[in-house]
Amino acid sequence: MTDLDARIAAVKRRISAAAAACGRDVDGITLLAVTKSVPAASLTAAQRAGVHDFGGNYLQEAVTQMDAVPGATWHFIGRVQSNKTREIASRFAWVHTVDRLRVAERLSSQRPPSAPPLNVCIQVDIDGEATKAGVASGDAAALAAGIARLPNLRLRGLMAIPRPHEDDRGKLDACMRVRALYDRLRDDGFDLDTLSLGMSADLEQAIAAGATMVRIGTALFGPRT
Ligand SMILES: *Cc1c(COP(=O)(O)O)cnc(C)c1O
Repeated sequence: MTDLDARIAAVKRRISAAAAACGRDVDGITLLAVTKSVPAASLTAAQRAGVHDFGGNYLQEAVTQMDAVPGATWHFIGRVQSNKTREIASRFAWVHTVDRLRVAERLSSQRPPSAPPLNVCIQVDIDGEATKAGVASGDAAALAAGIARLPNLRLRGLMAIPRPHEDDRGKLDACMRVRALYDRLRDDGFDLDTLSLGMSADLEQAIAAGATMVRIGTALFGPRT
């Protein structure tokens, strides 16, 4: 077993244990391997070890990585620049980081007609950090309503990157705030099924809060250089 195989197995064990701890079915949690600064050979090995979903922060880097994992599902998880929407809309199956209607409109109008609707999550600035990406929690419903009207997008849920906490309680509280907003939108009638939440440091708390996709880089591939 290589180091990578061992790390992938360890992450899968963490996911299973976290799901078991809160009585959730592990099949409802998708592991998304985050590819920033990861060599293509490691992605190929991850795919061989059973990873199907890959998340890229940087368009050009992700595009060069795609050949290494044929048939994989690619998720864009970086900041969406308006001048990159056409390529993002044609290369990816998901975009987790939609935080303004203008970008959503461009992604919808630029999604190739032959492709199925682009799956999108709204990125929420759950800590109200202003300088960070993401829509303010209070503006999420209006953005969701706007996205729901766009023909070539399928609104799936919410994504967040809570600010780092040292303690498990702080991590869980942040994740639960995202979950509460998700529940509110569902109560409002939005047909959501995806909570993209949890990274290497807080995947247990994210799963306890209901995450359906965890985005893992460091715990799978080691520290970034
Ligand atoms: C880098 C990154 C991750 C993975 O973070 P790790 O702590 O390395 O697991 C997840 N989501 C986003 C948006 C990222 O940029």
